[in-house]
Amino acid sequence: MKPLRRTVDLRQANTQVILRHLCFNGSMSRMEISLQTQLSAGMVTNVTSELLQSGVLIEKGLEESSGGRPRTIVDINPRHGYLIGVDLGETQVALELFDLKMNKLCTTLEPVAQEEDMLAQYICILQRGCQNLMMQAGLSPEKILGVGIGVPGIVEHNGQVSVAAPMWNWRSEPVLELVEQAVGLPVYIDNGAKAMTLAESWFGAGRGVQDMAVILIGTGIGAGIITKGALYRGATNSAGEWGHTKIVLHGRQCRCGGQGCLEAYVGAPGILASQREAGGHPQDDQFVAVGQLVDAYQRGDPTAERVMQDLTQVLGIGIANLVNLFNPERIEIGGWAGLLIGGALLDDLTACVKQNALPLSTKELSISLCQLGEDAICTGAACLVLEEFLSANLKFNRGIY
Ligand SMILES: [Zn+2]
Repeated sequence: MKPLRRTVDLRQANTQVILRHLCFNGSMSRMEISLQTQLSAGMVTNVTSELLQSGVLIEKGLEESSGGRPRTIVDINPRHGYLIGVDLGETQVALELFDLKMNKLCTTLEPVAQEEDMLAQYICILQRGCQNLMMQAGLSPEKILGVGIGVPGIVEHNGQVSVAAPMWNWRSEPVLELVEQAVGLPVYIDNGAKAMTLAESWFGAGRGVQDMAVILIGTGIGAGIITKGALYRGATNSAGEWGHTKIVLHGRQCRCGGQGCLEAYVGAPGILASQREAGGHPQDDQFVAVGQLVDAYQRGDPTAERVMQDLTQVLGIGIANLVNLFNPERIEIGGWAGLLIGGALLDDLTACVKQNALPLSTKELSISLCQLGEDAICTGAACLVLEEFLSANLKFNRGIY
């Protein structure tokens, strides 16, 4: 039986190679697939025929070839299955529906209230949001390959998938199981910064970058690290909890229970606390207040200038520490607050990082803003489902097309 098993494994591995190649490089002829993946022409023909038959691939016209017959172009069938990506934020939940080619089809935004039982509230929001998206797109649940969720907490993959989030007093909540029961679809959960990193690495500015860190700045902050082209997770999937590295001895109280964490200064509430300490009067709404602070800084308001200069120092040193540890060639700054402050401070931040990290660590370094914008967490969360699909863990012949 062993040789048969190996044949099956090999075919499955080659199917994954071809699907990944088409997913990340777009449509092409069988000949091009064979040349670029170095799989034999016969293997490519066999695997693509099977994928065409099951509806995973479609034919997309012909390509002229020098001398021979025109070649058929094949591509992933966008309507073979659909993915839902969720950015489970502390103030709002964004849900987006994508087709299998990662085209965004529709979106729904749900506000989050500060309630006693946050878990019950989030489950209701997810149930309602998924139904809303399917209704908008006219899709039945069988068409949905899965729901990916990016959460602002530590996601443990330890037999079961649980979430720890100190701001909601979640120590180890079985979120995946509860959401799956509520929405009736396969669910995949990871930390929001990790999901965003996956999206930037696959479809954003980080395509093809081997060593990169993606920084998420919103209400909380975190980082995702790509090393040798793959997401670095650590022993318990909590690598990248950069927001809780200590930056000030005996500093501000952080939501994690510690003191002097980077998040207490650079997360949106921390930035606004600095503004209050400097004599400013920010609004209660974080989104509005951070936007107004950046506007005031750009107009040359002296209080805003002081707050933003201090922020540049703290964030710059935080990034420099990350650079000294991981030696990335690229840092990308994202998250709603990260895009706002990064847009205004990018040059000063880059100078501060170069001043505070070792010259050898910054030799190849460039710092830029995330390309996928505010949608990056939803896209990344949908990528969690796509990853399962590409790994052939989701049956692509389950009769959904
Ligand atoms: Zn902390």
